[in-house]
Amino acid sequence: MHEMSIAQSILRIVLAEAQRNGARKIKTVRIRAGELRGIVPSQLSFFFQFITKDTFAEGATLDFEIVPIKGKCKPCDNVFPVLNFEFICPNCASKDVDVVEGMELAVKEIEIE
Ligand SMILES: [Zn+2]
Repeated sequence: MHEMSIAQSILRIVLAEAQRNGARKIKTVRIRAGELRGIVPSQLSFFFQFITKDTFAEGATLDFEIVPIKGKCKPCDNVFPVLNFEFICPNCASKDVDVVEGMELAVKEIEIE
């Protein structure tokens, strides 16, 4: 139930934000999600719709921006895109790689009415 708990935390953030702005209806929620989070947008949207019933966010759509994985090689400091989950530096072939992008999960923007 990975997606369910994410949907719940998104809803918490969104409702708090709506209250601060005196919004009556939430139209769109833009999510920035790192590829490494392994989020399935259709599943997350499904749970979100389910739990937003009878809240300000009922009927709101989730918009996803998937952030590709980026790695940083520890030995040579090279920053490179990680494709197919292969954490190998293209510069020096080291496998000693840190993830610098692709782990984020955040509500980026909320469109209200
Ligand atoms: Zn390297």
